Amino acid sequence: VTGEQEGDCWTAEKGAVRCHLCPRHCLVRNGGTGFCKVRTNIGGRLILPFYGEISALAIDPIEKKPLYHFYPGSRIVSVGFYGCTLDCPFCQNWNISREFGAQTGQSLSPEALVGRAVASGVPLMAFTYSEPLVHFEYLMRVLHLAREAGLETVLVTNGMLNREPALRLIPLVDAFNIDLKSFSGDYYASVLKGDLESVLSFIRLAAESSHVELTTLLIPGDNESPGELESLVRFIASVSVDIPWHVSGYRPEYRYRKAPTPVETVSMAVSLGKSFLKSVYTGNMGDDNNTVCPGCSRLLVSRSGYFVKNHGWDAGRCRYCGSRQYGR
Ligand code: SF4
Repeated sequence: VTGEQEGDCWTAEKGAVRCHLCPRHCLVRNGGTGFCKVRTNIGGRLILPFYGEISALAIDPIEKKPLYHFYPGSRIVSVGFYGCTLDCPFCQNWNISREFGAQTGQSLSPEALVGRAVASGVPLMAFTYSEPLVHFEYLMRVLHLAREAGLETVLVTNGMLNREPALRLIPLVDAFNIDLKSFSGDYYASVLKGDLESVLSFIRLAAESSHVELTTLLIPGDNESPGELESLVRFIASVSVDIPWHVSGYRPEYRYRKAPTPVETVSMAVSLGKSFLKSVYTGNMGDDNNTVCPGCSRLLVSRSGYFVKNHGWDAGRCRYCGSRQYGR
C-alpha cells in the first residue's frame, strides 16, 4: 500500500510544497520531509511514504487509552503508526514518534485493517501509541470504512490539526482522548515545538460532536504550578464540566532526566480539578480511578489496574438515582 500515495492539504510554492495539515505549515523542499517525518516532497508533490505502515496492532482495555466514560471495561482494537507533529523531550513512545528512521512494521491497506478489526469481533477501534493525525488521508479512509462496518472509533491525539481538516475528520470519530500538555503557549512553542491555540480550538470542535476526555502529564517544574493548572482546568470547564480529566505522573524518558512527579503534585492537581469538573482521574498514580455518579455520589464503576467492575453504570444512567452520565 505504500509508494506513490499522494497527500491531501498541501499547495505548491516556489518549487516546494507547503503542507497545511497542522499549524506548523512546513515548507518541504524536493526530496525533503516535514517536521513530522512522514510527509515528503517527491517531484513537487506531497507523498506519504508511511501510508498504511502500522507500528503496532493489539487489543487493549479501553481504560488504557485512557477512556473511562466510553464503554467502560470494554476491549478495543488499537493501532499505532509512526511520526508526530510535536517533539516532546519526555515522549514515552519516542521510538515510533520521533526516532524511527526508515523502520516500518506491517503494511495494511485501509480495507485490510478494517477487515482485521471486524474479524476480531471487537466493535471498537482506536488510533493510539503515536500521533494518528499525521496520517490524515489514511485515517479518513479507515474512518469511513469503519463506520460502514459498524465499528466505533477512538483517536488518542495531541490535537494539533488545522481547522479545515479538523472539520472533515471530527464528525467521523466517536471518541477522543486529547492531550492538553500545558496551558502555556510559550511552553508549547519552545519545549514541545507545538501550538497551544490550535489544540484548544481542536478540543472545542471535538467536544461539539464527539465524546471527549482529556489527559495532562504533570512534569515537575514544567507545567504543574497551581496557577497554570487552575487556568487549564477553567478552560476545560468552559468547554464542558462533564469532560473527564486524566492527570498522570511523569517518569524519566527520552531526553528528560528530571525526577518523577511526586504523588503530592498529582493529588494537588486532582483536588483542584474536582473543584471545577465532575470527573477527575489519576491514571498511573493514586487511587482516584473509580467513577462515581455526580448526582448521588454512589459508586458506578470501580477500577484496579485494568480490572474494571460495573456497580451502577446502566446504559449511560446511574442505576441508583437515574441521572444521565456523560459518555456511552
Ligand atoms: S503535518 Fe507534518 S509536514 Fe504537515 S505541517 Fe505538520 S509537521 Fe509539517
